Amino acid sequence: MVGERRPVVLRNGTVLTMDGAHQVLNDHDVLVVDDRIAAIGPRLEVPEGTVEIDAANGIVMPGMIDTHRHMWQTAMRGYGADWTLTQYFVWYYLEWGKVFRPQDIHAGNLLGAAEALDAGVTTTVDWSHGLQTTDHADAAVDALRAVPGRFVLAYGNIQDSPASWTAKPEFRDFVTRRMTGDDMLGFQLAFDVTGDPSFPEKPAFEVARELGVPVTTHAGVWGATNDDGIRLMHDNGFMTPQSIYVHAATLSADSYHRIAATGGSISVSTESEQSAGQGYPPTWAIREHGIPVSLSMDTSVWWSGDLFSAMRTTLGADRAREHMAAHARNDTVTHSSLRAEHVVDWATMGGARALGRSSDLGSLEVGKKADIVLLRNENSPAMFPVLNPYGHVAFQAQRSDVDTVIVDGRIVKRDHRLVGVDLQAIRSQVEQTVEHLRAQLGEEAWQKGMNPDIPESKVLDNPYTYTEYRGDTRTSV
Ligand SMILES: [Zn+2]
Repeated sequence: MVGERRPVVLRNGTVLTMDGAHQVLNDHDVLVVDDRIAAIGPRLEVPEGTVEIDAANGIVMPGMIDTHRHMWQTAMRGYGADWTLTQYFVWYYLEWGKVFRPQDIHAGNLLGAAEALDAGVTTTVDWSHGLQTTDHADAAVDALRAVPGRFVLAYGNIQDSPASWTAKPEFRDFVTRRMTGDDMLGFQLAFDVTGDPSFPEKPAFEVARELGVPVTTHAGVWGATNDDGIRLMHDNGFMTPQSIYVHAATLSADSYHRIAATGGSISVSTESEQSAGQGYPPTWAIREHGIPVSLSMDTSVWWSGDLFSAMRTTLGADRAREHMAAHARNDTVTHSSLRAEHVVDWATMGGARALGRSSDLGSLEVGKKADIVLLRNENSPAMFPVLNPYGHVAFQAQRSDVDTVIVDGRIVKRDHRLVGVDLQAIRSQVEQTVEHLRAQLGEEAWQKGMNPDIPESKVLDNPYTYTEYRGDTRTSV
């Protein structure tokens, strides 16, 4: 781990504590000593040698927590912008995922980790399902260790069955060597439950139980996973408060009842669900069931890696659903149920709760870990006035407004620039990965992968276009 650790004070900010009472404190200071928040208050006395950071006109909030990102895919940033989920599965699972070498996992993870910190995401679950060998896994961890953020390696391998890869001695050896209980690097197992009645994933769940680590699983994904997987997990006693269900967008009330009753949480990736087709972003349903929510960005092969986008799209999707449901009843929504404050909670405490870290992460409270973000941009006309700080975070702020990021008491971004992260070195690694993949695919497959066909969907019998064409609807005209 890099970077010195001196006491730091953020002065005169609007502090969104996200504590139990959701206190918003105006013109307050936050003092960090070692890895902890030492004090919060106005005009704090600070130890000699404390780094002073001006937070006036800014918002001080907890570091954000992303509970599901396939960081290894970040080197292919934006390549799949026009994909569907089917095209993603074909590209990564069937055709090209296997050509990723350990150094390609390393490159993607480095870039994804740097991007997370830059955007104020201080903890990221690396949903790492490209770990074909433990060399790939070592590369993933090496990259996460090289960037001064907090991460959770969710170990997975889409090229092999969960029962097979979790049984391998080299996997066990990896766990012993690399998963040392350090609070900067957590551990989960990542695999999906197909719903096959013979429940082939059962041995992998048993490994997770034996290791005492949570399982994270893509659940309720249209065309891939459904209620059958939830029922198998539940009937076999594998649904626990630590379980994280990603998407959970096409599940019945029965599955939501099982999740609620066993205390698990759902990681909602709204931007992903909206355009890839897992199902409608489910917050409208799961908040009625009282299931805890965290937010995630899924993969930069399509989307951005920042939780501002997650908060914004989640508010929009939830409210759109509520309006459309009301209109279908010939009714009008006069008061929105989901508030900006709720999505800021999901992006911070929601993630901490999902990861079992609510006692030390997710809010700004004395004694908690110092994972802190300052949003402040004196050059941006969108950063004043700050009248409604929750609304400002959810709908106004952007990555470029992240001025300062502190993780575990260390400044990792200051004055809008990452500290101790060599972007040029990351760029050259990523370029090598892109070069390798492009050569493996060949130019034709590379271009075709990025530019899928557009289906024909024109309205052919628009009566106002006065064409010669006569469709069925116009025969009586
Ligand atoms: Zn995913």
